[in-house]
Amino acid sequence: MALSPEMKKFAEPFIKEYRRVLRAIKRYDRIAIFRHIMPDFDALGTQMGLATWIKDNFPEKEVRVFGDNHVTFTPRVYPEMDTRSEDWFKKPFLTFILDVGNESRIADPRWKKGKFIIKIDHHPKVEDFADVEIVNTEAAAATEIVVNMLKNFKGDYKMSPEAAEYFYTALVGDSGRFQYSSTSEHTFQIAGELIKSGMNISKTYQKMYQKQLDDLYVTAYVLNNFKVSPKGVAYYVLDRQIQQDLKITTERGKENVNIFANIEGINAWCSITEDNKEPCWRVSIRSKEKAINGVATMFEGGGHAQASGAKLNSIDDLPRLIEELDKLF
Ligand code: AMP
Repeated sequence: MALSPEMKKFAEPFIKEYRRVLRAIKRYDRIAIFRHIMPDFDALGTQMGLATWIKDNFPEKEVRVFGDNHVTFTPRVYPEMDTRSEDWFKKPFLTFILDVGNESRIADPRWKKGKFIIKIDHHPKVEDFADVEIVNTEAAAATEIVVNMLKNFKGDYKMSPEAAEYFYTALVGDSGRFQYSSTSEHTFQIAGELIKSGMNISKTYQKMYQKQLDDLYVTAYVLNNFKVSPKGVAYYVLDRQIQQDLKITTERGKENVNIFANIEGINAWCSITEDNKEPCWRVSIRSKEKAINGVATMFEGGGHAQASGAKLNSIDDLPRLIEELDKLF
């Protein structure tokens, strides 16, 4: 079926790169797919979606997915990542790096052993480290670029419901269920392309957002203990003791951050979670309109205009973080 004008326009700057990607997929028998540490829906969904798509269309290829598993999405939404011995990396393979713009955040250092390296990302560009770089910061999710690319490939390729479901989780996750301002006409067209595959939308949402009864106690704690700054920055802090009491891991500390979206007078919102291994505090920052990634960069982080991550080396730095955010409003 013919592509829409938006899907053609989105592809225009990358036509040469798309061709190089398809040629590389055809050339290599062994393909390894990587993405960022502490993965989210976009990282895992794009990784699993692409792996499934390649296996569906090139069944003779050996495709592997690497990186850390997710504390709750694995195995509920995504299968366990591959564990391979060092021997696997000795024979030539093609590397894909998805949804990450800086080397230090790639979840497994063995991506470097790939013969040919392809990066596809939607984070602001930090550094070049691949043979083919496809970066579009206007995409709501890395998946939006990958699916656009697959649909622009010349040839008769199929999108199975399984591959589409993975890609859909990524698109929904990073666009905040199509609420963030990064959501465009093209984002919805990609969603439409995925739905055409016959995937089951309601089952996909159920898998993504299913909660346990215990999760309600975490939400109750957050609602009873959050603070709001003079300029409307809402935040909550979960130290190690509270995480233990609430029976959650550090990775799950940010799960309630979006409770503060759509509250009048709240302009930005953050979760601050003490790391249970390292002496630092992990910060997730979200915002209604103003770009907060500049502030995230000041605190050893980065990310997107409306969704960024950062780190505090001491909880004493928290007032400074909130002051910097307050200055935006
Ligand atoms: P999080 O709050 O961890 O969910 O992160 C929100 C977004 O910011 C995700 O897209 C992350 O990939 C990105 N992000 C988080 N930490 C960093 C960092 N240190 N550098 C660049 N991007 C980041």
